[in-house]
Amino acid sequence: MSARMSLKSDVLVIGGGIAGCATALQLARRGWKVTLLERDQAGVRASGVNFGGVRQNGRDLRELPIAMRARAMWDELPSLIGFDGEFRATGNLRLVSDEDRAVQLDNFFTAATKQGLGLVWLERAELRARYPWLSGKPLRGVLCPNDGHANPRLVGPAFAFAAQESGATIIEHAEITEGWYANATFQLRALDNRTFAAPVLVNCAGAWAGKIAGWFDEPVTLVPEIPQVQVTEPLPYRIEPVLGFVGGDFYLRQTLRGNILFGSGQGRATADALRSQPLPESMKRGAQIAIDFIPDLAHVPIIRTWTGVDGDTSDGVCVVGPSETHPGLFHAFGFNGHGFLLGPAVGAVVTELILDGGTSTDISGLAIDRFRPRRKASAAPARAQHPDEETEASAEENGAQSTDHCPVGVDQHKQAADSQDAAERDQDR
Ligand SMILES: Cc1cc2nc3c(=O)[nH]c(=O)nc-3n(C[C@H](O)[C@H](O)[C@H](O)COP(=O)(O)OP(=O)(O)OC[C@H]3O[C@@H](n4cnc5c(N)ncnc54)[C@H](O)[C@@H]3O)c2cc1C
Repeated sequence: MSARMSLKSDVLVIGGGIAGCATALQLARRGWKVTLLERDQAGVRASGVNFGGVRQNGRDLRELPIAMRARAMWDELPSLIGFDGEFRATGNLRLVSDEDRAVQLDNFFTAATKQGLGLVWLERAELRARYPWLSGKPLRGVLCPNDGHANPRLVGPAFAFAAQESGATIIEHAEITEGWYANATFQLRALDNRTFAAPVLVNCAGAWAGKIAGWFDEPVTLVPEIPQVQVTEPLPYRIEPVLGFVGGDFYLRQTLRGNILFGSGQGRATADALRSQPLPESMKRGAQIAIDFIPDLAHVPIIRTWTGVDGDTSDGVCVVGPSETHPGLFHAFGFNGHGFLLGPAVGAVVTELILDGGTSTDISGLAIDRFRPRRKASAAPARAQHPDEETEASAEENGAQSTDHCPVGVDQHKQAADSQDAAERDQDR
């Protein structure tokens, strides 16, 4: 992709994952001059290395409206990115293996059905009849027949190419290190000193987006989530639905070529979250869980493992919507390890917010204000100058927030994992 510099864009997007590229694609299609800035290569971070689950099943209800819109868009992928991304609606089966968790499954079934999500309730005997490869462990399950899976290695970069073909300028190897707001314009500076400006800015910087939100006085603490995926050698195709477990950190699917992909546990990341790797102990645990649920997997060789990094919010739900502090600033981040499905709709919704001033999709539960730190009554208004020119008042305000900057690294992840909230949260994909 060409590395052109554009000083006069209508919109700047930071982050070339599926969220940023889908946004750039929709904006460009509506004739806006959009420049997307990506630190590495577009589509190679979480969006290109994930597990490939396209799942509405088990979503937090605040995310369900955007998830349902996104799912409909996966059927239209050929008209968006030129091919189907290997998306197949094979279903998503959410299982429960203890009575305490069964309440959660039941609650989701009732509430999501009310919102119009098509689900099928399956008791143990029906599970055994439909899925003879499953052990007797699961007590019951909920199947979402129109969920499925796709190939992230193809889909991630494809959104970038489609955006570029529609007229967006994608600038790779441009790490944005500084951002500020002056004269109704967002100003960004890259590591190599290039600068970019536009009246509208979209923050789609994945696991690193909390820090960027902080440049504009609304920091959000994101804890790195480092899912680890293992893949077996190919087996005859039998396992249609993607499997997930209520309250359990385990998920599994079979590709159409036959390989079984499954994930469990967290890998390890460097402090800047730019590099990550699987941890052998938790991979071993994941393999044991796979065998517990699908006994035929015993002795099947694992041929590859990998990890990637996403950003977790403290309540497990993403941020999609306008800034609270700066007109023209929009956020879409904090996807908690399940933003691949959402990507296409994130682009459509953010574009509607920018161009139409609103969206028909209910995103009321995704607003950034739920993370707003308590401010002093006398807090200064939003910063409107380069940080080098800070006044005493704004320096004091920034100082008060500096402890809330995006923490990265495995220690911080452990802190979050230790919290009750994180322990109770599903790690489904
Ligand atoms: C191993 C794994 C498995 C997963 N499985 C699933 C799944 O099965 N289903 C599902 O729905 N989701 C899954 N996810 C989550 C999903 O991949 C992410 O939620 C989604 O891809 C997030 O998209 P994004 O565009 O926000 O982030 P990313 O794809 O991470 O893109 C953000 C981009 O911003 C760039 N960036 C950051 N800071 C800067 C800066 N300062 N300057 C310039 N560029 C910057 C980064 O380089 C990156 O390319 C998984 C994630 C992982 C890691």
